[in-house]
Amino acid sequence: MVGWVRLNGQIFYFCGSYLKKYKLMNLIDGRYYFSGEVDPLAVVEKHGCPLYVYDSAVIERQFNRLRDAFSVKSLRINYACKALTNLSILKLMRKLGAGLDTVSIQEVLIGLKAGYEARDIIYTPNCVSLEEIEEAVHLGVRINIDNISILEQFGQKHAEVPVCIRVNPHIMAGGNTKISVGHIDSKFGISFYQMPHVRRIVENTGLTIEGLHMHTGSGILDADVFLRGAEILFNVAREFKDLSYLDFGSGFKVPYKQGDIETNIEELGEKISLRFNAFCEEYGRDLSLLFEPGKFLVSEAGSFLVKVNVVKQTTSMVFAGLDSGLNHLIRPMFYDAYHEIVNVSNPGGKPRFYTVVGYICETDTFGVNRRIAEIREGDILCIRNAGAYCFSMASNYNSRFRPAEVLIHDGKNLLIRERETMEDLLKNQLEVEL
Ligand SMILES: *Cc1c(COP(=O)(O)O)cnc(C)c1O
Repeated sequence: MVGWVRLNGQIFYFCGSYLKKYKLMNLIDGRYYFSGEVDPLAVVEKHGCPLYVYDSAVIERQFNRLRDAFSVKSLRINYACKALTNLSILKLMRKLGAGLDTVSIQEVLIGLKAGYEARDIIYTPNCVSLEEIEEAVHLGVRINIDNISILEQFGQKHAEVPVCIRVNPHIMAGGNTKISVGHIDSKFGISFYQMPHVRRIVENTGLTIEGLHMHTGSGILDADVFLRGAEILFNVAREFKDLSYLDFGSGFKVPYKQGDIETNIEELGEKISLRFNAFCEEYGRDLSLLFEPGKFLVSEAGSFLVKVNVVKQTTSMVFAGLDSGLNHLIRPMFYDAYHEIVNVSNPGGKPRFYTVVGYICETDTFGVNRRIAEIREGDILCIRNAGAYCFSMASNYNSRFRPAEVLIHDGKNLLIRERETMEDLLKNQLEVEL
């Protein structure tokens, strides 16, 4: 059983017998608070606007939920840091016990800077050069290879370095080709039909395959889809005798609005653990079970606080125009993502319908026909679930500064990234005589 309860005016999260104070931004006595105590308006007062705010208690809750859902001998949760790459977030994840999933050499370097041991970092790039992979080898991190061409070249030069193989299980996760990465037309991974070729390369070069990996994308709905992928990975695993881990990637869904389907982690954990343990028995050795969630760990922990510059009535609707845009949070325009929007300045206001838009000179919409407590110019709105793929996809389009980032931790609000300045915008530009 999973859910929320209110005890003595505080909100608690429970999962089975596990009860923990629920510290998401929430309405208490008609006003919004982070962590049940930090006033978002005070945070904006202190750090300015627009502002990304992350609540460490929510990250911890999600991490512990995932960890506790599985009962296997060895479980490893590698945080997919492309979701939110701030150093302080990486440090927090390390403290919680996470390893790191990285997709570029720069993410590897940030991970090392955040204090991760090289062996706790897995490098899962696609379409990068052999040279970049060799750099990762030099740094000592685990290597995950996702195409035959590189595998063959790598094996001929570095047969002594064990690698992981990214398998494409040809599963369509969630039906959205923008976020599904394990289907037949996807560029990711080596088709499981091509495993005879992989085995041939292994035999010809003497490479050791230490792990198998699959990641089908960010839309897996339920345990059964996941299990279908798992069976494919087990089938491949039977062909490789030196494995020490199986990495099932991610794809855990979190709710973005009321009524959204959320991956039932507890059910998934039970089913996968059972099947995984049985497979280990058959395989003859205990393997480690790896996951690499991004969104699941950080999405709900993030809030994006923005100010309303103008309320604009047209012939057909009321727009609320923000001091932000798709340059700061592109998911609605890029993925048709839904982010809940609340008015933290006027939570008791009479709800009206608004279309919330940004200041970028493009169609730049955060939400259409949203029912929001009456918005006045100058009000602070909160765009929720803004932890994953929001700041990390932000840009300087329209020559705007990227926002500051704040971490709420133990009741304190800590600045973890300064707002950009004109200097940052002009930093690498050279003025030439013309
Ligand atoms: C992006 C990514 C993830 C994380 O996906 P989420 O949906 O954010 O959990 C995991 N593994 C790989 C290889 C990725 O590229």
